[in-house]
Amino acid sequence: MHDVVVVGAGLAGLRCAGLLAARGLDVVVLEGADAVGGRQRTDIIDGFRLDRGFQVLNPAYPALRRSVDLDALALGSFPVGVRVRTTDGVSELRHPLRHPLSIATSLRSGLVSSRDAVALARWAGPAMVRPLSRLARHDLTLGEGWDAAGLRGPLRTAVLEPFLAGVLAESDGETSNAFARLLVRYFAFGRPGVPAQGIAAVPEQLAAHARTAGADIRLDARADRVSSQGEGIRVDLIDGDSVGASRVVVAVGPDAVAGLTGLAAPATNGLQTWWFAATEPPARSALLTVDGRVGRGPVVNTVVMTHTVPSYAPAGRHLIAATCLLPSDSAPADEKDVRRHLGEIWGTDISAWELIRRDDIADALPAQPAPLSAPRSPRYADRSYIAGDHRDTASIQGALASGERAARAILADMGS
Ligand SMILES: Cc1cc2nc3c(=O)[nH]c(=O)nc-3n(C[C@H](O)[C@H](O)[C@H](O)COP(=O)(O)OP(=O)(O)OC[C@H]3O[C@@H](n4cnc5c(N)ncnc54)[C@H](O)[C@@H]3O)c2cc1C
Repeated sequence: MHDVVVVGAGLAGLRCAGLLAARGLDVVVLEGADAVGGRQRTDIIDGFRLDRGFQVLNPAYPALRRSVDLDALALGSFPVGVRVRTTDGVSELRHPLRHPLSIATSLRSGLVSSRDAVALARWAGPAMVRPLSRLARHDLTLGEGWDAAGLRGPLRTAVLEPFLAGVLAESDGETSNAFARLLVRYFAFGRPGVPAQGIAAVPEQLAAHARTAGADIRLDARADRVSSQGEGIRVDLIDGDSVGASRVVVAVGPDAVAGLTGLAAPATNGLQTWWFAATEPPARSALLTVDGRVGRGPVVNTVVMTHTVPSYAPAGRHLIAATCLLPSDSAPADEKDVRRHLGEIWGTDISAWELIRRDDIADALPAQPAPLSAPRSPRYADRSYIAGDHRDTASIQGALASGERAARAILADMGS
């Protein structure tokens, strides 16, 4: 019998397994897919590196800094700021502290009134210094939080709303104000990017650490059932095999939680990413671009990946990502609409772009409604633990921190 069986080799499961194996425990990881990574996978298609849905890595995440060698990821970092399509053209807003000379341009854009700038400072300022537990006291929805701060002008409607829609995977303003402020803090302190080899380089590095520490990671090993057996736990696999261990960590994504634990399925929001290849980029800017016009849609953000990570495309080609929301109650965006909208956002003819792949990810991120709940205990039954972003914050940071919490709980319960 093993000490611990971890079900799921996403960030949470891998981080947990690595920590436990490093403490000398006999750890087996069961991963249902053909590779580690979960929601962080990268495929190479015709020489293009496609992540399974556009996502970015923020080096300011504390749990990330503890878990991986960031230098080894060779991050390509996006410029800090946002490019906004307006009815009059295109404006670029850059981080005022990192690019002080950009303040005049931002003010001239018409997107940042002095009233909005003060309101933004009122909304975001406390997040720079207060811990999340304090921010989450008397939490509101994001929409209410902006109203309370007096943030009502174009900085909200044309910049923050479209920008955060892609980050939160929803555009109704229902997300916790505290969570949104926490993300803005990370954006203020870190410069998000993607690893040169693709987002999958993060879980691959965690898996390498865990293996080096002695963990046995089994792929194509899908768990069907978790049950108590005597003084331990038994995990039955769909192929008929079974694994016995003293304890189990269920580190599956939100879609699989209920089936293995009997706990309620966490609510989620979906995202859809379109990956296009082009010979000529639509602009020289590497900034993430959003549409600030009224009645915009369906694209919430788009970016020329190859301006930041040339390794994402073969020589002489460009890769453009475009992300849409994927609400469960309406039809997904279709290619005709996406192409029309991208042509408007970039202000250029994109008919020659070749669609390489479209990723529809229904359970991309756990919903984080207000009031934000504190990170939940990893213990859910005797000798049974649970980890994943749905137990903490909906992010890479949340997944890693949750995996660490489960490992600490096991070590404490074992008196280690
Ligand atoms: C499109 C998209 C964009 C995102 N953007 C960002 C971003 O910009 N910034 C950010 O911080 N976060 C972002 N995220 C979220 C981030 O990727 C996740 O929070 C994180 O990867 C979740 O890790 P996890 O370990 O909790 O779960 P998962 O990655 O879901 O891992 C769960 C693992 O369990 C396995 N599994 C499931 N069922 C079984 C079973 N029965 N038996 C065995 N194995 C099983 C799965 O195959 C999977 O490998 C994004 C996610 C998506 C999809």
